Amino acid sequence: MLSALNRYLAQPLRAHRDRSPHLRYLKLLERRQFDAPEQLQKRQSATVREIVRHAWETVPFYRERWAALGLHPEVVQTSEDLRAFPILTKLDIREQGERLRSDLYRSSQVVRKTTSGSTGVPLTIFVDPDALAWKRACTIRSDQWSGWRLGQRVARLWGHGVADRGNWKARLRRLFFDRESYLNTLDIDRGRLKRFADHLKLSQPGLLFGHAHSLYLFAAYVRSACPGSIRPKGIVSSAMILHDWQRTVIEEAFGGPVTNRYGCEEVSLIASECEEHRGLHLNADGVFCEVVPDRRTNAGRLLVTDLRNRAMPLIRYEVGDVVVPSDRVCSCGRGMQMIESVVGRDADYVLTPEGSLISGISLTDHFATEIRGAAQLQIVQEQLTFLRLRLVAGEGFGPDSHREIELLVRSTFGPRMNYELELVDAIPQEASGKYRFCISPVATAYMKSLAP
Ligand SMILES: [Zn+2]
Repeated sequence: MLSALNRYLAQPLRAHRDRSPHLRYLKLLERRQFDAPEQLQKRQSATVREIVRHAWETVPFYRERWAALGLHPEVVQTSEDLRAFPILTKLDIREQGERLRSDLYRSSQVVRKTTSGSTGVPLTIFVDPDALAWKRACTIRSDQWSGWRLGQRVARLWGHGVADRGNWKARLRRLFFDRESYLNTLDIDRGRLKRFADHLKLSQPGLLFGHAHSLYLFAAYVRSACPGSIRPKGIVSSAMILHDWQRTVIEEAFGGPVTNRYGCEEVSLIASECEEHRGLHLNADGVFCEVVPDRRTNAGRLLVTDLRNRAMPLIRYEVGDVVVPSDRVCSCGRGMQMIESVVGRDADYVLTPEGSLISGISLTDHFATEIRGAAQLQIVQEQLTFLRLRLVAGEGFGPDSHREIELLVRSTFGPRMNYELELVDAIPQEASGKYRFCISPVATAYMKSLAP
């Protein structure tokens, strides 16, 4: 009853107040999800043509780069023709910054996002509000494939201290309007796991959402402390590798399948599993994806063209992840192309000397975007009281950055944690294409004892 009220009354009222078209977009996207592949391709080609023309006409960086190579938007008739155009790298985004923004958007008309991307390289991205609403609708659509329905309660395991942020009005809004509760993954211990589990036992969530390693930690706790007591309608694992051994424990603990979702802050949702859980459907309404094949394996580097963000068009953007493409037609009936799997970011938890656990993914995001001039970062916990911070220094790195690191380490890990900063040329990607952001045998061993 409450869920229906929230879905059909509270959500539309809020969207109306915020002048956000995302619910209208959601209806359109839900209608479109079973369109035939040919229809999807035709629509994608038209959108690619349009975004390339828009970039040429209003973004100085693209106009200059393409003109120097003798390329013109007219050569793009279908999305396949994009192959003639150069790849956009993270370095391009870091170096070009504002020159990647469209002339049509003033600063007051765009939302600025700072992210550590999928490889720990901090980036600033500008998104227009219409694109944000569209991306939000794409995400809600695929989250509903998990079994959750918009309007039902959401339990998030997430970093950045969202749970503690905001005044009492913001907290009330989260509780009654968004119907969301949080476990702050930047500060977890046995007591907090217990409180969160107790809360969810009383107010069962429609959706349980988080990074794979946080879902796994919570699942392992619930499985040993209070098995069978929390039964979400859907479970969504997002933004990092979901290992099979993690999936097994999460599914055992909560009695339902995990929906693996893949995306990044720069373009939002890229792909998601459907009810079949056999590979991930590409978000064909939000992004056009290409895979640069590797001759030695069946995997390849992923290039993404954002089909909606006009404030800062990302065309053939190399996300930094490796994916395994697939020709399979899914039995769910959706025409959106599939990928078998994603080899992306992976991270351990870190354990503080005081006994709190911190999500390595949330942590690296937090650090990489707050240290001036940090071009890439990796955190290795070598002992309980000793961290090695491997950092690639970029433009602007200097004495202030050193002070920022010291303050961040103190405020995050407490006074007993020591560290050494090691400046390196690069954080190597593993042979599989995986980036390990955070490595901690100490925390991994502790987690096993906490939730065997
Ligand atoms: Zn499917």
